[in-house]
Amino acid sequence: MIDLRSDTVTQPTGPMRAAMAAAAVGDDVFGDDPTVNELEAAVADRLGKEAAVLVTSGTQGNLCALLAHCQRGDEYIVGDRAHTYMFEGGGGAVLGSIQPQPVPTGDDGMIDLARAEAAVKPDDSHFARTRLVCLENTIDGKALTVEQMERSAALAARHSLAHHLDGARLWNAAAALGADPAAVAAPFDSVSACLSKGLGAPVGSVLAGPAGFVAEARKWRKMLGGGMRQAGVVAAAGLHALEHHVGRLADDHANAARLARGLGSVPGVEIDSCATNMVFARLRPERPGIADELARRGVLTLWTDASGRLVTHLGVTSADVDAAVAAVAEILA
Ligand SMILES: *Cc1c(COP(=O)(O)O)cnc(C)c1O
Repeated sequence: MIDLRSDTVTQPTGPMRAAMAAAAVGDDVFGDDPTVNELEAAVADRLGKEAAVLVTSGTQGNLCALLAHCQRGDEYIVGDRAHTYMFEGGGGAVLGSIQPQPVPTGDDGMIDLARAEAAVKPDDSHFARTRLVCLENTIDGKALTVEQMERSAALAARHSLAHHLDGARLWNAAAALGADPAAVAAPFDSVSACLSKGLGAPVGSVLAGPAGFVAEARKWRKMLGGGMRQAGVVAAAGLHALEHHVGRLADDHANAARLARGLGSVPGVEIDSCATNMVFARLRPERPGIADELARRGVLTLWTDASGRLVTHLGVTSADVDAAVAAVAEILA
């Protein structure tokens, strides 16, 4: 099967499984797991932060960040299309009594900074206390530039707000910008990043920031059920991914561009956008049941009748891309 549903569908490679099997482990809740400690140090180093903590998922990383930055009755400014706002079950509100203040998101994925600044609340008992600004990079596959992130950082600094990045695909953003991952992380106090998406680890995300912040986040992680004991087995996959799967993300981006070119040449398909490892494509006219027809030809997508997102990852080769394009062409012919 050629699986273009998401970059979360990757299978651990043979060498990754070998690294997991060979991992030295201990009780991470006691701080005893050498492989977890090595991963956390490696991530902190690569992202230019003092410390990092391994968490179970990107959702848990962002939630730990919200809970560590904000108190009950605080609010955070976030894009109205951001994962943290839309797709994390409202965890900050449910578990932290933290109010989201959504602001409009532009086509480039950047929040409207003028609207964000206008949304910062004055020090007045009528209002929730604004504490934090969150960005997401990449967002819908698009990489925010370092300059965009720095303008948001300046806004946060003007109002003494913390600045957090949901960097689930930070590594893709760095690859697309030709920047060091630390340069993508630099405008932020804290950054969460997934190991389980384009990097191809089976599970895990990391949250990095100042040592005091990470200590606080670690406490929240435990409370959220994320204290994982002999987690070195998981951390070994993350370490392997950092060493071997960051450099190859450019291949995924090239394959996404190849997919967009191929699909764009099929009559009846329009490309809405293609950036990093994601292609957003539309069917005109609509084609009910396209996902089922493709699945019968060995291509898995989440394509609805009209539009959909196709994602490349380390389980998709350029030959797979060509086969997927051929399958779409055959169905629409
Ligand atoms: C996937 C994703 C998350 C959440 O990660 P999970 O590991 O699925 O919980 C957060 N933010 C963005 C932008 C994501 O794409």
